[in-house]
Amino acid sequence: MKQSHIERYLSQGIQTLRQDDPQLFEILEGEHQRQSESLSLIASSGGSDSSVLAATGSTIVNVTAEGYPGKRYHAGCRFVDKAEQLAIDRAKQVFGARYVNVQPHCASFANHTVMQSLLVPGDTILGMSLDQGGHLTHGAPANLSGKLYKAVGYGLDSRGLLDYRQMRECALEHRPRLIVCGTTSYTRVIDFDRIREIAEEAGAYVLADITHIAGLVAAGIHPSPIDAAHFTTTCTFKQLYGPRGALIMMGRDADSIGPDGIRSLSHGIQSAVFPLMQGSPEVHSIAAKARAMGRLLEPGFRDLARLIQANASELAAALLARGYDVISGGTDNHMVLFRVPPGLSGETATRALEYCGILVNKNKIPGDYRGAATTSGLRLGSNTVSLRGMGRLQMQEAVELIDTVLHHARSTGQSGFELDDSIHGQVTERVRGLCRTFPLPYDYGAAQVRPTADAVQIQAALTP
Ligand SMILES: *Cc1c(COP(=O)(O)O)cnc(C)c1O
Repeated sequence: MKQSHIERYLSQGIQTLRQDDPQLFEILEGEHQRQSESLSLIASSGGSDSSVLAATGSTIVNVTAEGYPGKRYHAGCRFVDKAEQLAIDRAKQVFGARYVNVQPHCASFANHTVMQSLLVPGDTILGMSLDQGGHLTHGAPANLSGKLYKAVGYGLDSRGLLDYRQMRECALEHRPRLIVCGTTSYTRVIDFDRIREIAEEAGAYVLADITHIAGLVAAGIHPSPIDAAHFTTTCTFKQLYGPRGALIMMGRDADSIGPDGIRSLSHGIQSAVFPLMQGSPEVHSIAAKARAMGRLLEPGFRDLARLIQANASELAAALLARGYDVISGGTDNHMVLFRVPPGLSGETATRALEYCGILVNKNKIPGDYRGAATTSGLRLGSNTVSLRGMGRLQMQEAVELIDTVLHHARSTGQSGFELDDSIHGQVTERVRGLCRTFPLPYDYGAAQVRPTADAVQIQAALTP
């Protein structure tokens, strides 16, 4: 096949970078290598394939395109309009949405934008507290959402399950204008219909931020909030394996009349994204979102999503078998939250594991007496390992390696730790081996995801 214009341009770009700016080139090459060689169990990590990266790096980035398809403030938007419309149409199809805005630069902006479209400063919002698993933008005091609005928080019960009773009591007491749901560390199914009922009773709108579970929702493995919530937001780079950026989506309430009594709710979002909150859209990201949505529509994505869920269940089971306290006793999604052994904190455990090439993150657990910078828990996620095609045996091995490190690491005060050289060498070698056997695919277009025979077996066992 003859090389196309953008192919030449992109490969020329890499060559020029290598020749003319070796300093930056080495940094980028080193980062690529690091990703290849680490066992990433970071719950918020995904991975973009080379076709998503190519779209992000294409010359479409040069177009300034304020406005929306067919209604731009600049000339020269013929192809940008097509790319944006394609991203919108595909996202609607993936999520069964009636309205989608593909312009938000990130999920944080998407959440702020929904709030700006509905609320005035001083209004009350009800969101999950940060230390219970909510996101900063759900009303945390350090975030603009907690400064502009009167934020009230709900959380988990003593078993680590979402406390809908408390949510309802808070909603009836404080009468928020908006209830925000969706979390960063909750491992169980979220009952969006129940939250909508609570909102109806309290006279509130619902914003579901599904950033963490968007892939499972797209694959039909987790109930969808598209119709239950008034607004659904998600980033596109975690479980959707796309570029940095976000979506705002709506289902049956897209045409409902908004708080001003004149415009529809979706109309409110459209003008809140631009011109209220953002200027020109990141058109290269929008093109890459179209590509990522295209991949989600391929039948193989459902298999990947099932594998994500099966692998997380296996991680939880293997931790339980080794006597760990797994919060809520297991998982329904891609995340597992567990308590670190006595003598270590989440912080020291994270550092010791990273030293051996295993990436996790510290996380508070219900009733945690330690702060967010230290914590008593670790959070694992299976998005990236599943993408690499790892399955049940590899999850068992990962837990064995984690257990080895946590049992041999000794805290030396502050966030320091000690680990015997032999343990370090042994674990690092096995992590390398796993990563070599299951390389990050260049093109894991969903159709090409080929889970191991073992992974296929667990999927079959999980399919009703
Ligand atoms: C990661 C995350 C975000 C933030 O996404 P950005 O695109 O980085 O702003 C928002 N909400 C939830 C629940 C998240 O997990």
